[in-house]
Amino acid sequence: MDEFDIVIGLEVHVQLKTKSKIFCSCSTEFESPPNTNICPVCCGYPGVLPVFNQKALELGVRVARGLGCEINPQIYFERKSYFYPDLPKNYQISQYKMPLGENGWLTLPSGKRIGIGRVHLEEDAGKLVHKKDYSLVDLNRTGIPLLEIVSKPDINSADEAFDYLTYLKLALQYIEASDCDMEKGILRCDANISLKKKGTQALGVKVELKNMNSFRGVRDALDYEAKRQAKTLEKSEKITQETRLWDETKRKTMVMRSKEEAHDYRYFPEPDLRKFSISLECKKIQENFLSKIEMPLKKREKFTKMYGLSAKDTDVLISDMWLANFFEEATTTFSDYKKMCGWLLGPFLEQVNALGASSGEVKISPANFAKVVKYFAEGKLNNLAAKKVLSLCVSTNKDIDRVIEEEGLVQVSGHQELQRFIEEALSQNPKPVQEYLGGKQQAIQFLVGQVMRKTQGKANPKVVRELLEESLKKHKGESSE
Ligand SMILES: [Zn+2]
Repeated sequence: MDEFDIVIGLEVHVQLKTKSKIFCSCSTEFESPPNTNICPVCCGYPGVLPVFNQKALELGVRVARGLGCEINPQIYFERKSYFYPDLPKNYQISQYKMPLGENGWLTLPSGKRIGIGRVHLEEDAGKLVHKKDYSLVDLNRTGIPLLEIVSKPDINSADEAFDYLTYLKLALQYIEASDCDMEKGILRCDANISLKKKGTQALGVKVELKNMNSFRGVRDALDYEAKRQAKTLEKSEKITQETRLWDETKRKTMVMRSKEEAHDYRYFPEPDLRKFSISLECKKIQENFLSKIEMPLKKREKFTKMYGLSAKDTDVLISDMWLANFFEEATTTFSDYKKMCGWLLGPFLEQVNALGASSGEVKISPANFAKVVKYFAEGKLNNLAAKKVLSLCVSTNKDIDRVIEEEGLVQVSGHQELQRFIEEALSQNPKPVQEYLGGKQQAIQFLVGQVMRKTQGKANPKVVRELLEESLKKHKGESSE
């Protein structure tokens, strides 16, 4: 393996976030029953004409510019001919010679830039549902607007491919161009990989990989394939140019077909759609939108440097733009960043998950959340009480102070008040007191529990313990006198 350099290129298809399809007005709704979002255009009836969806174009321009691509001055669609049972026209409207954008890049957390060769618009095909001895066709997906993003062969390891996909997905989500949900097929990835002898320029024979259903799957498939190719080359055998499928259960790649060439597709300009150019205004609007967004990598740098958060916590925060923004807003009212992050990723997310709520249903404001954490830090609320307040406010955003008062949750931390409970606990439990005085340190735990019960859980256990230790010391002094 050490003799070779790994060369990887990734081809990502993402569904653009539009309400209707790319060449007709059918809905892009994911959950619809089969063959309900269809019309003569997306079903490829003879004589129909496609009408290009402006929103798809705008989002395409946004992504292309967001990835630093140059927008081509004149753009047109081409027909890519092939037959599939779920492609009723027998061709796909795509872009070939003149894609929407070219020559961009994506920066990885390591600082390495991965070149983006091209970004182009196309329509999706339908879906085949395979049954035991027959197959069904669902055309809801035909005509769904896709953007194909093709990286340059700049990726040199399976881990780098994983990082590229992670940050590409985040970028697309942050700029609101796609939901990038892999489970729904909104983001799909094919890879190509070849090996070349270290220090040489000539690229090896490329193998294309398909059928990876997760970023982890992509990483595993690439890892497997790199090793397979190295073994083959070490035996002085030749690599065949072919397409291979990743088998998740067998954890290996298998031959699917020999690779087709571009000329097999008989590309030619789509006669039903005009050539067009992107107006300056359109570009400006999208660039203006992009300028207001802090991209994931920038946020990552800020969270670790400015807020001093760990890389692990930062990665969780930035994996959801909503969560990252919530955190940042909360820090404007209370500046113990680490404590805030701990409460956000811990009790807060627990509550959200328990509600089964998505971020959209969480009603608590960042300022109110920060208040709960602040009260906890100041000792006004103990851990249990703070969690209770959170649970009462997460989906309502009630006034925190009022909830604390209504529920009687203020922590009992006045020493005098506590002292009364402590004396009670000591006189009611002579046995553990004797045990403790006799040297059994852990007996104090029982006494702490008793005091906590008397305060109905409203005391700070740490303070209780300290006061108990003090009182017990006095008892010891008295008994030895
Ligand atoms: Zn349609």
